[in-house]
Amino acid sequence: GEGTPTVDVEDAAVTLDDVGGLESVKRRLHEAFLDPLRNPEIAQAFGASLRGGLLLYGPPGCGKTFIARAVAGELGLRFLTASIADVMGEHFGQTEKNLQKLFASARSYAPIVMFLDEIDALGARRSSIGTGWSGMRAIVNQLLLELDSVKDDNEGLFLLAASNQPWEVDPALLRPGRLDRLVLVLPPDGPARETILRGLFLKRPIAGIDLASIVARTEDFSGADLAHLVDTAAQKALNRSLAQGEIQPLQMHDVEDALAEIKPSTLSW
Ligand code: ATP
Repeated sequence: GEGTPTVDVEDAAVTLDDVGGLESVKRRLHEAFLDPLRNPEIAQAFGASLRGGLLLYGPPGCGKTFIARAVAGELGLRFLTASIADVMGEHFGQTEKNLQKLFASARSYAPIVMFLDEIDALGARRSSIGTGWSGMRAIVNQLLLELDSVKDDNEGLFLLAASNQPWEVDPALLRPGRLDRLVLVLPPDGPARETILRGLFLKRPIAGIDLASIVARTEDFSGADLAHLVDTAAQKALNRSLAQGEIQPLQMHDVEDALAEIKPSTLSW
């Protein structure tokens, strides 16, 4: 349709303490983003600008959105999510207008953390499909204009973006003062998988689940893969329960069966 941006504003609900594992990602978020914003005088004394944002990149389903939400929580700010794919309009000039509206709306909510997902939708190679090269140039230029119009004091508009295909992102978007800090988010490590799995099992009747063993056997699984694994195991317990006419808890053999069926999705990244 018109690709009118749907803005989704949430209150801060999670912090980095809710993110399991990923210690090096957390450290990098502190150094490159959170600590300078919390200590603006110190940061500016060293010539650091408070403008510009952070690009989270890595394979899909590995928690980039969750981490961005936690960054908003750390700052005690509301969180606005928008996907570039949703902003793309069909008519000439529509996408630029949508971007303008999106940033205007974000400013009206300031101070706020704004999360732009699928930023790779704006890139040189994408221009061959749909809009054509000049159309894509105009869209990227509009986004650059919006990014560059954020004042030095930041105006309370904190920008995070995400991409599964960082090599597709238009390099102009990555220059100083724009998305000038990169954070790699790889598939969840052991402690992260434990946190994710704990959350997934919490919602279901279980018996005799060996969490450490599942953690050890799910290397390279994304958060989304883990959810798929537990869903699959739960379906087996549900089928058994329905056949018996009473609740039969999810057991280790259900997980074993599910593990035999499900392969990690991140290996092709
Ligand atoms: P991406 O944006 O990278 O595609 P995502 O942010 O949509 O991924 P998933 O990786 O699919 O999120 O994770 C799904 C859910 O799993 C999250 O909403 C969150 O509840 C949980 N989760 C993911 N990573 C972690 C983590 N490191 N610690 C705790 N929970 C996590």
